[in-house]
This record gives sequence, C-alpha cells and structure tokens, in this order.
Amino acid sequence: MSKSLICSCEDVTADDVRHAVSRGYCDVESVKRYTGFGTGICQGKSCLSAVAALLEKEKALAPDAVVPFTPRPPLYPTELRLLATAPVDESVPPVGGVPQEVEVFASALRPTEPLPAKAKVVIIGGGIMGLALAYNLARAGETDVVVLERGYLCAGASGRNGGGVRMQWGTPALVELAKRSIDLMKGFARELGINVWLRQGGYLFMARTEAVARKLERNVTLHNRFGVPTRLVTPDAARDIVPGLTMKNCVAASFNPEDGVIFPWPFLWGYAQGCRKKGVRVETYTDVKGFEVSGGQIRKVKTDRGDIACDTVVLAAGAWSPEVAKLVGVQLPNEPHRHEILSTEPLKPFLGPLVSVLDSGLYFSQSMRGEIVGGMGDPKEPAGLNMGSTLRFVSRFAQALMEQLPQVGHVKVLRQWAGCYDVTPDNNPILGRTPGLDNLLQMSGFVGHGFMMAPAVAERMAQWMATGESDELFTRFNLRRFSEGSIEREDMIIG
Ligand SMILES: Cc1cc2nc3c(=O)[nH]c(=O)nc-3n(C[C@H](O)[C@H](O)[C@H](O)COP(=O)(O)OP(=O)(O)OC[C@H]3O[C@@H](n4cnc5c(N)ncnc54)[C@H](O)[C@@H]3O)c2cc1C
Repeated sequence: MSKSLICSCEDVTADDVRHAVSRGYCDVESVKRYTGFGTGICQGKSCLSAVAALLEKEKALAPDAVVPFTPRPPLYPTELRLLATAPVDESVPPVGGVPQEVEVFASALRPTEPLPAKAKVVIIGGGIMGLALAYNLARAGETDVVVLERGYLCAGASGRNGGGVRMQWGTPALVELAKRSIDLMKGFARELGINVWLRQGGYLFMARTEAVARKLERNVTLHNRFGVPTRLVTPDAARDIVPGLTMKNCVAASFNPEDGVIFPWPFLWGYAQGCRKKGVRVETYTDVKGFEVSGGQIRKVKTDRGDIACDTVVLAAGAWSPEVAKLVGVQLPNEPHRHEILSTEPLKPFLGPLVSVLDSGLYFSQSMRGEIVGGMGDPKEPAGLNMGSTLRFVSRFAQALMEQLPQVGHVKVLRQWAGCYDVTPDNNPILGRTPGLDNLLQMSGFVGHGFMMAPAVAERMAQWMATGESDELFTRFNLRRFSEGSIEREDMIIG
C-alpha cells in the first residue's frame, strides 16, 4: 500500500499524500502543492479524485471540505506555436479569465480550535512577507506572534510567482536588499531544513532601444558599486550566454551571473515550519474582517474565528492590503494588477539565466524541474483583483518568446495561472508605522519583486520591531512619502 501510485505523471504515492497531511497540509490545494500531484501532464484528471477519496478516508478533512483544486488552462498540453496563432487585439484591455472569480474558500476548511484571545503581534497575511517576518521575530525572541491567512499557504502572489531573484535594480535600496536576500537564500536549506532549489544561472536583461540600453549601462555602475558583478554585454555575447537566442531587435544586454531562480513554495513552507517550531501560530483559512480601535490604537483584530487582542498589527496582505486597510479607515495608494504566467512540459537543462526583454516585460527561465516558466505584463491590464488566465496572454507570450527563442515552438504549455502584483505609485514597498495609527505596521506594495526582497526586508523589520532601533528603511518607504512627495521611482520592473 505504501508504494501505491496516486499520480503517475509526478510519481506521487499514497504515502506522499499521508506525509503532506502529517505536516499539516490537508486541504486539496495544499496537498497538490506539497506533493506535486496534479501538476503534470494530466493536470489532475487521473489523480484528483483518488487524492480526494484518500483525504476523506484518512479523515484529514470533513467531507464538505474536500473540494477540488482550481483547474488551470489549457485543458490539454498545447504547443506554444499553436497558441501563438490565437488572435490578439492589443488596442483593447483583456477581458475575463479562468477562473472568473477570485478564490472563495469553503467555510468547512476553517479550523475549529479557538484562536488565542491575545497576542503581542498579529500579522495579517500568510504570504512570504508575513511568514518571513514572523520567523524573524521568533528568531529575535518574540514568539507571541499569530499569522492570519484567509486561505492556504501559497494562495496569494507568493504561491504564484516566477521565483526570479536578482540584484539588478535601478535604485541603491533595492540592490542592497536583493543582495542580502540572495545571501540569506543560500543558507535557507541549512537554517530551515528545506530545499528551495536556488539556482544561480544569472539574469540576462535585453534592451530594444538606446534609452533602455543607457539605463542598463547606468545600472552596471550602480551594481558594481555594491559589489554586484553585473556587466554590459553585446548581442553576440548574449547569444553565447544563451545559445539559440535571436536577440531580435535588441541593441544591448546586461548580465549578472549571481542572479537566479528559486522554487517559491518550499520557501513558504520552510518559514511556516520554522515559525511553528518556535511557537508562532500560523492560522490558515482565517479571514480578517475588521478591527476594534480606541485611543488611536488598534486593540483587537476581528476574524471569522473570533477576535484577538494585540499590541501591534502588521499588514502584510499583499494585493489585498488596500482593502484590509480600508477596514480600519486607512487609505493605501497600492493597486492590484493581474499578472499572468505559465509553465511548460519539462525539458533537459538548456537555459542558464532568466532572460528578460526589459522593454516588453517578457521573461522566461528554466526551473530545476526543467519547465520553461515565464510571463509578460499586459499594458492594457486594468487595476483589480483578478486572477483569471486568458488565451490572450498565452498567445502574446508565445509570440514574444518564439521571437527570441524560435526553437521552443514545439514545446507544450502544461499550465497557466495568474496572480496580482501589489503596485505602488513609485514601484517601492510601503513599510513602517501608519500615520495616525502607529501600532499598525505596513509591509506591502512589493509589486513584482516581493519574493526576492522578503528575506532581507523581514530580517530588518524584525530587528527594528524587536529593538526599537531606528532604521532608515522604514522612514524612506513610509506611507507618508506619498503626501510629502519624497519619492524615488524604481523602474526595473518586468512581468
Ligand atoms: C505572476 C507573478 C510573478 C512574479 N514573479 C516574481 C519573481 O520572479 N520574483 C519575485 O521576487 N517576486 C515575483 N512576484 C511578486 C511576488 O510574488 C510578491 O511581491 C510577493 O509574493 C508578495 O508577498 P506578500 O506576502 O506581500 O503577498 P501575498 O503572497 O499575496 O500574501 C498575502 C496574503 O494575505 C492573505 N490575505 C488577504 N486578505 C486577507 C485577510 N482579510 N485576512 C487574512 N489574510 C488575508 C492572502 O490570502 C495572501 O496569501 C510575482 C508576482 C506574480 C503575481
């Protein structure tokens, strides 16, 4: 029985599912991610019901909590060159998407045990930011912390991103943070006992215009000042780094061999496990519904499982932060913007760096499992919490990818999905105290780069919270900067 295969595409056994359950990953979405079942060619068609039956039989979940995972297009593995033929009208915004609604979680998934009546720190959002901060607080000795997550771990952008980690930024603050994060990532497996599959194959940024090429050139000087070995490369040298790359319409590129990619999910699990080991409560399927405020302080956080009295609240709800902030009368300037992404069937290793055309936002890399993972922003995408996948995206992406790497036209797309960037007016995060409500700390607005910033930002924020020592990061990126007009825009944004 222990060896009986439940998902033949991804080699998942019944015991793998039991192992996931033993680690607390009991719902279908979490088991899918923790074991990999349903992520292969059949997309769950031959294994979803078997996993559901096993979860019910093992009493891991109540029968009405056994709900299928969100289906991902395309229905069948489909070649990129075929997808590229779907017509796209670039003059109109994208409409719709699959699924049409933002995930609603079955109430049967809500844990039945009571929440603690009080905690020193309540963190709203169990994405990379909330979990990394909770872990770092616990590491600094503060374990009276509760993380509240409305869905499963990985439900937000942290479970939907491309896993790119790069030091190639346009402003000193982000270069420094990313550099520190990548250093911390190197020690993550040792510290947290989980493999995040960090692969430092570099990032190759391509420029189509002289203006963008000049930006890359300016960045090289900045990066080198911080000890980041970025260099400007000619189109020919770029083709040596990525054989088969056409560099069509590109005039220059920059390359930092120390950038790379990671696999996002184990990162979240590693932090969550680290939190729990240190006594921090990480409460999934727990939705924050409101606040009790008096004397200019938040006294209680109200959830669908009851209230928690607290000294400090951290808002780390990613693209949902503005709507949560509104519950306490705080206006944030962030806007959610859908970004779509896809993954292909696995190929033998052929692609070293993550490659990006800065002008169009196209990016693609090869994961450690061999898949091409990539995305491209859509300038017509309206603001809004939309996480649906469109044919328009795969078509635009396939065309742009095949322009640079024509030989992948026959490769099949297995899965596409979407998440929301949490976009601020200057593409920089919102951190630190909230004017007028200073026990509400902000930790949002990470646009398309929160994953790679999280280890360093969380480390600094925990230190700042635990010691009360001043740190210019929390002044520089304070919400106040928008009303005071002291903003420095980050423009190395892709996706
Ligand atoms: C397609 C895509 C590609 C990306 N690629 C990269 C990349 O290559 N590299 C990189 O560094 N970054 C990338 N990003 C950005 C990165 O994923 C985010 O910046 C980062 O994950 C944000 O983390 P977070 O914890 O702030 O937000 P999230 O991960 O979204 O977490 C917020 C959590 O808050 C929860 N929540 C919301 N409302 C409530 C409530 N009322 N009560 C309780 N919980 C609530 C949500 O369910 C969610 O899980 C990408 C993003 C997308 C969408």
